[in-house]
Amino acid sequence: MTQIGKAVALVTGGAAGIGLLTAQRLAAAGAARVVLWDIDAAALDRAVAGLRAQGHAADGIVLDLSQPAAIAAAVAATEALGAAPDILVNNAGIVVGKPFAGHSEADIRRTMDINATAPMLLTRAFLPGMIARGRGHVVNIASAAGMLSNPNMAVYAASKWAMIGWSDSLRLEMEMGRTGVRVTTVCPTYIDTGMFQGARLRLIPLLKPERVADAIVRAIRRDRIFLRLPAIVNTLPFLKGLMPVR
Ligand code: NAD
Repeated sequence: MTQIGKAVALVTGGAAGIGLLTAQRLAAAGAARVVLWDIDAAALDRAVAGLRAQGHAADGIVLDLSQPAAIAAAVAATEALGAAPDILVNNAGIVVGKPFAGHSEADIRRTMDINATAPMLLTRAFLPGMIARGRGHVVNIASAAGMLSNPNMAVYAASKWAMIGWSDSLRLEMEMGRTGVRVTTVCPTYIDTGMFQGARLRLIPLLKPERVADAIVRAIRRDRIFLRLPAIVNTLPFLKGLMPVR
């Protein structure tokens, strides 16, 4: 079981929004250290300074998660701090909100790289350490957009569908392998952060990001396997021969 007290937590996209609130809550819950990764150096400085001002051990690493070399360098820098994470929150994400025909190749690649590939790359880097220690919790912030159809957000939706497929499969792999490592997939609906600022969402109520941060902390606290729905349940419809076609 991963106890937040004494754990090292790494939060990507930790300089703002859901990531910053999650880092603050993990620090307040007694994490030994929080490490924030973000592309926004100024916001990251402010976030780390705020945590330190409250007496928490905090570090920030600036990187662009769309660049695999930058991820490798940030992994090395995190390990050099002596901060291999027990809790890894794959939170950073971007949205390109426009009709699919208006997406450039760069829009498509950047969205997939940041939202889908980066979480896999950095989880792959830290997972062997978690498995060797027999504990760890990987929390992947996907989206309700990964479970529903989303006009004007088709590539964002694709990246989140990809994340959910990977995250749920990894969860099953970790649980069936009795590794002691837990994986949680979180699928928020529209949240009141910078992400959808300016978007026309008048008909859809925005939820407070604190709700997501609280849900993440609760999921980590409850990570004993007998309190969680076994991931094997996901596969039962297929074992019964059901094949959704739509
Ligand atoms: P946000 O824009 O407020 O914060 C995202 C953070 O990620 C920022 O600090 C940003 O600088 C950082 N970031 C962006 N690109 C990066 C990159 N290339 N490398 C490193 N850091 C980068 O967004 P948020 O609303 O807090 O979203 C957090 C997560 O929640 C995202 O994965 C998002 O897809 C997901 N989510 C958000 C909503 C919503 O309505 N806001 C809904 C569902 C899911």
